[in-house]
Amino acid sequence: MGREARANGGNGKPQTVVLDFDDACDGNDGLAPLLRLRERDPGFKVTLFAIPARCSDALLKQYDAHRDWLQLSIHGWRHARHECLAWTAEETQEKIALARGVYPAFAPIFRATNWEMCDEVYAGLKQCGVAVADHIRNIEIMPDDMPHYIYNVRLRNDAYRRMHGHIQPFNGTGLEEAYELWSSPPVGSTYLWCTEATTARKELAVGR
Ligand SMILES: [Zn+2]
Repeated sequence: MGREARANGGNGKPQTVVLDFDDACDGNDGLAPLLRLRERDPGFKVTLFAIPARCSDALLKQYDAHRDWLQLSIHGWRHARHECLAWTAEETQEKIALARGVYPAFAPIFRATNWEMCDEVYAGLKQCGVAVADHIRNIEIMPDDMPHYIYNVRLRNDAYRRMHGHIQPFNGTGLEEAYELWSSPPVGSTYLWCTEATTARKELAVGR
């Protein structure tokens, strides 16, 4: 995805960028490179999808000190294999409540472990007013009026440059691994959190 995302931007004109990273948890701390990105462009903002059951108070406190530009959102519960596929709508609501018990300031947006969503989880999120951060491949199973932020490099009539990676090294999408990519938007670009780029309008992929 690195190559395509690079081709999508970097033309020197300020862009509107939505940037997020997965898998914030203990032992997986990306604050240092994020601070470098913030130093590079004071307008820098980022969404981190955190694994609630694996975040200590110390880690959350560290991120919370930067909440004017760093938004923490919910990524599964324990990040167990296929965990979200097993949840009912009620369990989904319970997990959101548990996550808020861990960190009350979690932003109201949820990304499933491995992007594995199902009808029950969409329903549960909707009932508690939480949007989904989803992959374009799930657009067919997403309920029509579900508030969502879709990650895909190319969407029809897209106003945003959508960038997604991992805090840890992961297929070349890690914070340090692809630092050059994350620092490619021209200084002065507008950054949005995922919650600021949600819509209930179904989006269309272009060329995929
Ligand atoms: Zn993950």
